Amino acid sequence: MRTLPIDELRGQARGDVISSEDERYEDARRVYNAMIDRRPALIVRVANVGDVMAAVNFAREHGLDLAVRGGGHSVPGFGTCDDGVVIDLSGMRGVRVDPSASTARAEGGATWGDFNAATHPFGLATTGGIISTTGVAGLTLGGGIGYLARGFGLSIDNLVSADVVTADGRLVQTGEREHDDLFWALRGGGGNFGVVTSLEFRLHPVREIYGGPMFYELSEVENVLRFYREYIADAPEQMGAFPAFQIAPPLPFIPEDRHGDTLVAIVACWAGPVAEGEKAFEPFHDVAPVVAEFVGPMPYPALNAAFDGLLPPGLQHYWKASFVKELTDEAISAHAVHGPDVPAVNSTMHIYPINGAAHRTAPGDTAFAYRDANFATVIAGVWPDPGQNEANIAWVRRYYDAIAPHSEEGGYVNFMAADDQGRIKANYKGNYDRLVAVKRAYDPDNLFHLNQNIAP
Ligand SMILES: Cc1cc2nc3c(=O)[nH]c(=O)nc-3n(C[C@H](O)[C@H](O)[C@H](O)COP(=O)(O)OP(=O)(O)OC[C@H]3O[C@@H](n4cnc5c(N)ncnc54)[C@H](O)[C@@H]3O)c2cc1C
Repeated sequence: MRTLPIDELRGQARGDVISSEDERYEDARRVYNAMIDRRPALIVRVANVGDVMAAVNFAREHGLDLAVRGGGHSVPGFGTCDDGVVIDLSGMRGVRVDPSASTARAEGGATWGDFNAATHPFGLATTGGIISTTGVAGLTLGGGIGYLARGFGLSIDNLVSADVVTADGRLVQTGEREHDDLFWALRGGGGNFGVVTSLEFRLHPVREIYGGPMFYELSEVENVLRFYREYIADAPEQMGAFPAFQIAPPLPFIPEDRHGDTLVAIVACWAGPVAEGEKAFEPFHDVAPVVAEFVGPMPYPALNAAFDGLLPPGLQHYWKASFVKELTDEAISAHAVHGPDVPAVNSTMHIYPINGAAHRTAPGDTAFAYRDANFATVIAGVWPDPGQNEANIAWVRRYYDAIAPHSEEGGYVNFMAADDQGRIKANYKGNYDRLVAVKRAYDPDNLFHLNQNIAP
């Protein structure tokens, strides 16, 4: 391997520059999905925007691959690479709340746990994901789907501005009025356009929510999914709810003799007045007998972290995804066949609703094109034993193939696998050509190519 002038970069950077001789290397190269095992030449734990600029320049000048890592959750492992440079933003996770403007600015390495912890004391929140350890930047750049999306839109619909270090090592401040072409592309276009060093969001009054998971017998699956389809079409927008298949974990609220059984679940979050929560949940009690539930008033960050324990770092992941306009009877039958084969307590299938407020942004207003889809389905294969990789990947693919005829060609970029690159154009429909034009303007040599790539 050729020798790189690493000391030059060390001299420029405030943060740590970690190479393979460093005792921290093994830990620093590890990402969330244990199936990904890559050996970068350098991991730059950036401490500030200047470090990001230096690392981008270093990778470009030396013709190295460049991976960008925020929360590290990329299932295809886009946050690392072999022999190249990793910009690790996990040291840049500050969140500054402006309560008078109801906005918050998060640094590029913040997680949703960091974000919620900062905004919750003010009784404020914005749309983030389902798990608190996911990165704010990675999740937002693909769109951002979560409990609050029906009420407040996708995460990108709440993005006010973003600072980006582009391929030429420049800091570009983007928003509706500055570099609006880049700002448009960032809202759904993923990590294609540069390193986002901070993101400013609009916040909403959300402190306590009423929510949690409810479990039903597997025999009720068609009943539950049909109910869900009708209910969520015009449910109040304060309701975020999604159905799931889930092997019952050994938790105290689930009867002991049901631990390990595969069940159908609805996980719901009522972000309206908490006093109305119980009433809002009545339809979920009426649909079928409830095997177990853990539902009640809780702080929003508690629901956002409720399933973190099922998804610790170090598991094997393989996911596939598609957008869905109508959850047809045929689609429901396909779910009823393959969902019950969910292979491990960490694996699941979720059908997230993306109607409500997420539909009020037009397809061309941001890069996220599927504004006419009502659902984003993800088959999340997650398991601890690498010996099961082949069998469990096969389950995800089988399930995906069965629902594909009832789904759109495109899927949510943040839930897609490395082998889905061929579907990227379909993800962006009419927005694709404009994305290519922005890519050519800001990254003509495709320095940022370790992502669901929009080739210049
Ligand atoms: C357990 C789990 C739960 C999830 N839940 C949800 C959910 O509820 N809703 C949802 O919408 N998605 C969800 N996702 C998908 C998630 O949005 C994507 O995996 C996302 O890419 C993760 O971002 P990250 O920063 O954690 O990951 P990383 O691996 O750090 O980053 C992934 C990619 O995003 C880009 N990126 C990250 N940070 C930056 C940055 N600062 N600047 C530029 N590019 C950057 C890069 O291309 C990078 O390779 C979940 C994923 C997992 C594993």
